[in-house]
Amino acid sequence: MMDQKELAKKVKLIIMDVDGTLSDGRFFVLPSGEALKSFDVKDGTGIIFAGLADIKTAIITGKTSEAVRNRAKELHVDDYYEGVVNKTKPFFELLEKYELPKEEVAYIGDDIGDAEVMGMVGFSAAVGDAHPLIKRISHYIAKRYGGRGAVREVIDFILDVQGKWPEIFTKIKNTEDSDEILRKINS
Ligand SMILES: [Mg+2]
Repeated sequence: MMDQKELAKKVKLIIMDVDGTLSDGRFFVLPSGEALKSFDVKDGTGIIFAGLADIKTAIITGKTSEAVRNRAKELHVDDYYEGVVNKTKPFFELLEKYELPKEEVAYIGDDIGDAEVMGMVGFSAAVGDAHPLIKRISHYIAKRYGGRGAVREVIDFILDVQGKWPEIFTKIKNTEDSDEILRKINS
């Protein structure tokens, strides 16, 4: 297998699962049927950093949730797909939209529904508490768990190997909406 750093260097788009990846997989069901989930602010900051480094981000989730949709919007996630049965469909749509080869895509997931796309991307990453089969097919296994900073860890790894930090911090200082970015990062 190729060195995980070499694979991560090519990444221009990061696709993320939600339940068990951006959330810890637990949800509280209200009497109305609506579900509450919790997200890690560190993952959100990582997504903002990826954007500042000109890396596209996308969410593909099997469920439908207004809260997740709003969170994705707040973090400027470029593409959001919900209620997805087969994740390969939006995956191929994204490849076409951004004219990217599979090698330039990363996917972060936790369970069997992610396996097919993870088997196709250039850099696949599992959260620390992912299903063993998912860990087995991943180029990178996070120490952190889903909903507990795993996404941030993977994004940091990609930004590190791509040497993106100077660019990110320059942008935070000089961009017109630096106040807005700082507010989100510091929240
Ligand atoms: Mg999941």
